[in-house]
Amino acid sequence: MSGQHSPDDHRRFRVVVIGPNLFGADADFHVHAADCADLRRNQLYRDHTDEIDRPDDIASLRELVHTIYDPHDFDYRPENWADFATGIEVFPCLDLPDEH
Ligand SMILES: [Zn+2]
Repeated sequence: MSGQHSPDDHRRFRVVVIGPNLFGADADFHVHAADCADLRRNQLYRDHTDEIDRPDDIASLRELVHTIYDPHDFDYRPENWADFATGIEVFPCLDLPDEH
């Protein structure tokens, strides 16, 4: 698989999205890299093994917001994704670009 990347390739990130029923958290959703040790360590995620076992593949914060808050379901214009980013906490284990 490696060696076939062109400069135009968008980097994908494997992420785990936990929420929205995060008891005791400030944000509605917590987002970690799929291999982040906190997912198994943090007591907050104890009841969220389903989410931890189902990582998503995303390329940017914009795509993450679109995945969590589908523009069609939530009835907003896709370019206004930043309005929906406030309830999502992306942890430092992930270095997501805003958009491509
Ligand atoms: Zn993390």
